[in-house]
Amino acid sequence: MTVKVAINGFGTIGKRVAEAVLKQDDMELVGVTKTRPDYLAKAASLRGLLYVPEEKLQDFEKSGIEVAGTLDELLRKVDVVVDATPGGIGKEYKKVYEKYGVKAIFQGGEKHEVAGFSFSTLCNYEEAHGKQYARVVSCNTTGLLRVLCTLHKEIGIEKVRATIVRRGADPHETKRGPINAIVPNPVTLPSHHGIDVRTVLDIDIATTAVVVPTTIMHLHVLNIVLKENVSKEKILEALEAAPRILVIPSEFSGIKDTAKIIEMARDMGRKRYDLNELAVFEESISVNGKELFLMQAVHQESIVVPENIDAIRALATNVSKEESIRKTDSTLGLVK
Ligand code: NAD
Repeated sequence: MTVKVAINGFGTIGKRVAEAVLKQDDMELVGVTKTRPDYLAKAASLRGLLYVPEEKLQDFEKSGIEVAGTLDELLRKVDVVVDATPGGIGKEYKKVYEKYGVKAIFQGGEKHEVAGFSFSTLCNYEEAHGKQYARVVSCNTTGLLRVLCTLHKEIGIEKVRATIVRRGADPHETKRGPINAIVPNPVTLPSHHGIDVRTVLDIDIATTAVVVPTTIMHLHVLNIVLKENVSKEKILEALEAAPRILVIPSEFSGIKDTAKIIEMARDMGRKRYDLNELAVFEESISVNGKELFLMQAVHQESIVVPENIDAIRALATNVSKEESIRKTDSTLGLVK
């Protein structure tokens, strides 16, 4: 079965998910939507993929960019819509998706309640089968859950305390910051990230967060109390066996910070220097009895792309988790 897919919101996440859908032999990208006639709209138009909300038709006519139809027409043609509009807007669109009976995947900027089910492949792929709606959790939550679900299944987790060092803006965002400060955000505890983890994995977790002047990655400092005493070897074994986690041996590779990780992605020929994998610094893994410390880096613009592709399969097909991960990761060129 080929799943017909629409992308509503063709920005940072939407354009990446659209390209990933084009690489799947069991999916068809029917169209993407744009609200403004810019260069991305032009690129989608040239491929016959551009649809726009009806009230925006005139703007596109004036710009001379040809559209294939309206958002409503697009929704009539598809099985699944990936909503990658800015946070809070997906909630409004849910009524439209309901009207056309189309399955919808929302992003981490929406509240859990919008979909009623938060998704992360390694944690709960099977539970998504047959659901009408799912929300792929945010980039930070995806990074946390890849490690936490892996360790919870292999060893068992008692408690997690983590600090999220967040990038100030995506590279193209000129109006965000800070450019010269470290901002506790929020300054009151806890941050929403741990609460978001709990929408998928019911564990004792509390997080704090600060925002720093960088655009390329987030960095997480994790302190995990496990259910039993562990060795560093056992942690390494679990993380190395898990999909979508790259354990980076900085001692020998020279990769000791987020800039070097992104340089590695560039040298690997990754488009836009995307790194769909979570990067864990091997030397940061430190164990004391049941207690584990580690540091990991998240490429915020691309880490959720594989999970969006899996979410499409989980909602619309009965493909197994293992098969979906295999298809997604091989087509996107993830290394393991
Ligand atoms: P973005 O601003 O880069 O892209 C959003 C796109 O939606 C833009 O092209 C915008 O023009 C379009 N849009 C705006 N209003 C619209 C409307 N009414 N109808 C249709 N399209 C509309 O945003 P993004 O960074 O891609 O974020 C999208 C979602 O993904 C958010 O929920 C966000 O929280 C989440 N997310 C973002 C990141 C990240 O680092 N950028 C990471 C993970 C998850």
